[in-house]
Amino acid sequence: MWLPPPSVSLSPPRLFAPVYKRSLTHQTLLSHAKPQLQKNFNFTQVRSLHRLPSQTAPDAQAATATVAAAPKTPLWQKVAIGSTIALATSATLLNQLTKAPRLEASSDSGSGNVITDLKDEHSRIGVEKKSTTELMLSMLVYKLCTFGLLVDLAPNLISLAESLHLSPPVYWFIRRTFFAQFCGGESADDCVGTMSSLRSAGINSILDLSIEADLDGLDLENQTPTEIRARFNKSADNIAEQISACIETASRLSKSFAAIKITAMSSPLLLQQVTTTLTALENKFKNIDQDRDGKVTKDEFKQLVKMLPSPSLNKDQSLDTMIDQLFSEADKDKDGMVDWIDFASTISLNRDETRSLFLGEAASSDVPGLIREDLEDYKRLLVRMETLCNQAQKTQTRLMIDAEQSYFQSAIDSVALHLMEQYNNNPNVEGPLIFNTYQMYLKDALGRLKQDYTRAQRNGYVLAAKLVRGAYMVSERKRALELGLKDPICDGIQATHASYNAGVDFMLEKMIQHKQKLIGGTEDESSTSLSLKTSPVVLFVASHNKDSVIRTCERMQQLELTPQAGLVMFGQLMGMCDQISYTLGQHGYGIYKYVPYGPIHHVIPYLIRRAQENATVLGGVTIERTLLWEELKSRFSAQKERTQIQAVPTPVVPAGPATTL
Ligand SMILES: Cc1cc2nc3c(=O)[nH]c(=O)nc-3n(C[C@H](O)[C@H](O)[C@H](O)COP(=O)(O)OP(=O)(O)OC[C@H]3O[C@@H](n4cnc5c(N)ncnc54)[C@H](O)[C@@H]3O)c2cc1C
Repeated sequence: MWLPPPSVSLSPPRLFAPVYKRSLTHQTLLSHAKPQLQKNFNFTQVRSLHRLPSQTAPDAQAATATVAAAPKTPLWQKVAIGSTIALATSATLLNQLTKAPRLEASSDSGSGNVITDLKDEHSRIGVEKKSTTELMLSMLVYKLCTFGLLVDLAPNLISLAESLHLSPPVYWFIRRTFFAQFCGGESADDCVGTMSSLRSAGINSILDLSIEADLDGLDLENQTPTEIRARFNKSADNIAEQISACIETASRLSKSFAAIKITAMSSPLLLQQVTTTLTALENKFKNIDQDRDGKVTKDEFKQLVKMLPSPSLNKDQSLDTMIDQLFSEADKDKDGMVDWIDFASTISLNRDETRSLFLGEAASSDVPGLIREDLEDYKRLLVRMETLCNQAQKTQTRLMIDAEQSYFQSAIDSVALHLMEQYNNNPNVEGPLIFNTYQMYLKDALGRLKQDYTRAQRNGYVLAAKLVRGAYMVSERKRALELGLKDPICDGIQATHASYNAGVDFMLEKMIQHKQKLIGGTEDESSTSLSLKTSPVVLFVASHNKDSVIRTCERMQQLELTPQAGLVMFGQLMGMCDQISYTLGQHGYGIYKYVPYGPIHHVIPYLIRRAQENATVLGGVTIERTLLWEELKSRFSAQKERTQIQAVPTPVVPAGPATTL
């Protein structure tokens, strides 16, 4: 769920009424929501609920500002756009003319050094398998992405075309360009071909249903909160069914994942409220822990529970008895102290026994409460997720839970940790079923990762963590500024890189510590290999940053962690950084591509975001385009040579003097 960069929220000109109407519709929704939610939520956030991540370049804001400041499209740019569009439509024809053969993948089966190959800036491994049509298409798409103004105006232009009933030609163009580049198809079944072709290059897939929360079609203006709630639940049930189909399709190719966005599984308003509640509780915990040792005494525990909305302020006996029981449950090591991990596992919205402690009005207690309907909806969310997890477990298909905006994240983590605890300790399944995502650009990300590791250890399940830098930097900062909150994102890109590296190192270190423990426990070293069955952690490095990938591979080599053990996986998005994916696939690393899909009209916002992401990335980085161009040139020159050879007449051997015996 990837927020568009701020460039999308241009003031809507009157001409583009449909886009503007969406914001009005959302405002209406908010007028029914709790006041506290109104202030923290905007339509852009809601409508991006079902999106894939987008990479936010460091200079995105600056780039956007520059683009916005541009007075008008220069003539040369218009000509360039026109000619690239013409190129697209004639690509198929050109492909026929050149009849370029599909080149086979490099015969190197991974015997070379992966690091040398990753560093090779001239390696065309990611492009050489593409047909000429595909190459030209990629060139065109990347080229279009460089027209910042076009990318910025795309949402409005598409809305305009829709309102003028020009969708068919616009969709036709999008389907053959951006959709073909970045999506696997319109349905999960459509993606099977892409998945198989990736598999033949050693790359696995993460199938990702990419559909937005359809608020603009909901006509919420005359809806009561109950009706809005019913609509969100209906939509979530519907999406859960589609994810079930996604899991079924993913299960057809072993090792595939299905991606899940928790915000698609419930009302985003509920998730925001849950996040507010859990964050407030954690802050109270920190404040009450006076000696700052991370633990509370029984008395402090009591005070904390009484801050929850439901326990009344009258200290009646039954409440105290209940708190005593909860404390003794939470105090696992019986040292009379409880830390946040045990507190949060015990006093939890995920437990039927303690959920009602959170019942109350948002403003009536220290920790904002949840009304009865919220609690019921939260329970529904858990049931939806558990149903999907059961299906995934049966078919041995892993689930990837994506990270989203920080104001949803505590709720997402709460659900994800709950599911990990239930599904990541099954001895009959090789490795963990549920992966959660950590956005390492958040200041507190490393601390959370470490805390979740401790929690997993204590509760006996595997921590499977996908590390990303994070896709919402610009919007998170904007929101923090508007609401006077502390900026949750690291100060500067170097700090984000350092946090990302530290996260990777932490996970690798835990693998190695466990390996040493295994070896220490037996005399026979060969019987103690670190594997998906034995490791306490599994790491998923989701990044387009080549340095991060190379660094991880180097660390793996230093630590003698083989790619075959499957404990470290890598991932990129479809249509991006193929050179990294194909190189890792060729060398036998666990490598995955996110393969998004959905009906074209639903996927358009995702495609716009890919275009925006590439607009910022490709502004500075043109390696991908250079490789495509070099590959095309080499094909054309090979074709030319072939034609010349065919054109040269077979030499006639001049008759020599008759030989005599
Ligand atoms: C397989 C896959 C799955 C993904 N899943 C998710 C997901 O679930 N949730 C999610 O949010 N994202 C997700 N992403 C998107 C990911 O967060 C972005 O692609 C990523 O942020 C881009 O970073 P990078 O690692 O590719 O490298 P880079 O291009 O090196 O890093 C760019 C990133 O650095 C950070 N950054 C840039 N400038 C600054 C600054 N001034 N201060 C602080 N930080 C800065 C930002 O996060 C920016 O996006 C996923 C990406 C992939 C490839």
